[in-house]
Amino acid sequence: MDGKLDDVEAGPGSADMRRDAAMPAAATPEGAATATDAQLARRSAPNLWLGLRRGGSRACPACGEGRLFRGYLAVIPTCPVCANDNEQYPSDDFAPYVTMFLVLHLMVPVLLAVDRAWSMPMGVEMAIALPLFAFSTLGLLPFAKGAVIGFAWSRGVTRKPVAFSNSA
Ligand SMILES: [Zn+2]
Repeated sequence: MDGKLDDVEAGPGSADMRRDAAMPAAATPEGAATATDAQLARRSAPNLWLGLRRGGSRACPACGEGRLFRGYLAVIPTCPVCANDNEQYPSDDFAPYVTMFLVLHLMVPVLLAVDRAWSMPMGVEMAIALPLFAFSTLGLLPFAKGAVIGFAWSRGVTRKPVAFSNSA
């Protein structure tokens, strides 16, 4: 674990500058590398269900106490409770995929059942269904993103600095 944190801290300076701009003075960019023993003691050993449960409730997967997001979807880079680097876990496009998969599989059977039970005009059906799709997708997305980050934490999946050598 320490090795991974060191790798992240040794990355390009742009990441540190980004954190400087984004974080209040309380959590310094060095927070992840200089976690105190008390903060380290708050962290659990990586575990799949723990990660999914904590991340899925938008909490830090490592300790389950610190908040994972600031606002809607922005990951707080360093957990305020256990100083875990939560920005190192990739979620990228996987969270929207999970969200769409869940929403479609939950909503389509309901729509089909409604369609069978009541014959309503297409316009009415769309006027109800489309906002429902939009709101449930947007509502579910932060929880799906948290669960994806929790999954990455449990499996040790981290963003690694990629060296693009002779691709051009
Ligand atoms: Zn934490």
